[in-house]
Amino acid sequence: MRPPLAPGATLGVIGGGQLGRMFVHAAQRLGYRVAVWTIEADSPAAAAADESVVSDAYDAASLRRFSERVQAVTVEFENVSAAALRVLAKSQPANPGWRAIRVAQNRIREKSFLAGLGVPVAPWGPIRTRDELHLAQSALSGPSILKTAALGYDGRGQARVANRDELASAWHKFSEVPCVLEGLVEFAAEVSCLVARGADGECVAYPVFLNEHRRHILDTTICPAPIGPLVTARVQSIAREIAAALGVVGLLTVEFFLKSDGSPIVNELAPRPHNSAHLTIEACATSQFEQQVRALVGLPLGSTRLRSPAAMANLLGDCWQGGEPDWAAPVARDRELHVHMYGKTDAKPGRKMGHLTVLDSDVEVALSRVLAARSALTARYDAAFSASDVTRP
Ligand code: AMP
Repeated sequence: MRPPLAPGATLGVIGGGQLGRMFVHAAQRLGYRVAVWTIEADSPAAAAADESVVSDAYDAASLRRFSERVQAVTVEFENVSAAALRVLAKSQPANPGWRAIRVAQNRIREKSFLAGLGVPVAPWGPIRTRDELHLAQSALSGPSILKTAALGYDGRGQARVANRDELASAWHKFSEVPCVLEGLVEFAAEVSCLVARGADGECVAYPVFLNEHRRHILDTTICPAPIGPLVTARVQSIAREIAAALGVVGLLTVEFFLKSDGSPIVNELAPRPHNSAHLTIEACATSQFEQQVRALVGLPLGSTRLRSPAAMANLLGDCWQGGEPDWAAPVARDRELHVHMYGKTDAKPGRKMGHLTVLDSDVEVALSRVLAARSALTARYDAAFSASDVTRP
């Protein structure tokens, strides 16, 4: 084992979004410098970092150039060259590891890996060729979701299909790129489990998060998920097993569907910080971002203990559609509200601009407080809209 990197070392993070920005904050608090590699010069992470490298693409050649400036590399998203990470890993820590990246960036590989591990997944099949399309058409037995194998997120690159014709036209609309077809799961709840794994194989699991999505985008998370100790233990054990099998060093979030009898089905994997774990910043002894730093520099992992039940609500660009939100209203209403803004200027609908977190000894009260705070942000525009004939977008 290498000795831990000492404060003062420069850590590299690939990707310039809010997950990179919050990693920068955690790393700097521990005394590290951070260089961000981004394709957008004014990205949220670059604004916070000590230095940034801007390039046209996240390609192998630029990754090698970037790596010369840093002593260890981690990622805030999975669409980076796994082959280049593999080469880098020979000379410096390159987390979460090229195998994890390779699997998580492609749904066909991800499903095959999970099925091989014997972990429960939704019924699925690959569609890469016309023959596989025909096979999937004959096997189609009910409502299903077609998902592009690569580059899909927050519901992008997904289409619901009910019959063979809809499947063929959805695949055509996706330009016939490789896809997976998944049977629609009738789930009672969606939960996620974050685990952190060190280079020595030590693995710690966080309490489970219960997630609500709106328009395929995460809307709220509460923790602990009210799913009972047995289901919690099962979900945590599956997440640990996947992290170990992938050889992850750093973070892995496993998203699950829970059926009404509590049985879990793995939906997808994210070997990086995750939106559903943002409440760990205030609610847990060690935030997901600090944990990512610890795993990268070789420090012992921190405790995942839940200090308080908590609720998180995302702030999407939609909140700006009536004008600048009324920032004073929620913070005046709830003096314990935690506001996180990502420094983005262009508030498009569906774009993640920030999030709110509330801690409360009663998790349901935490949820209603965070929702009330979010409504207060836009209450004056909502009232103006409902008093007129205009329909809010
Ligand atoms: P994903 O990008 O795969 O996480 O999908 C985004 C959201 O779409 C999920 O959080 C679910 O709400 C929904 N979804 C995705 N796949 C399925 C499925 N097989 N059955 C039911 N709902 C799904």
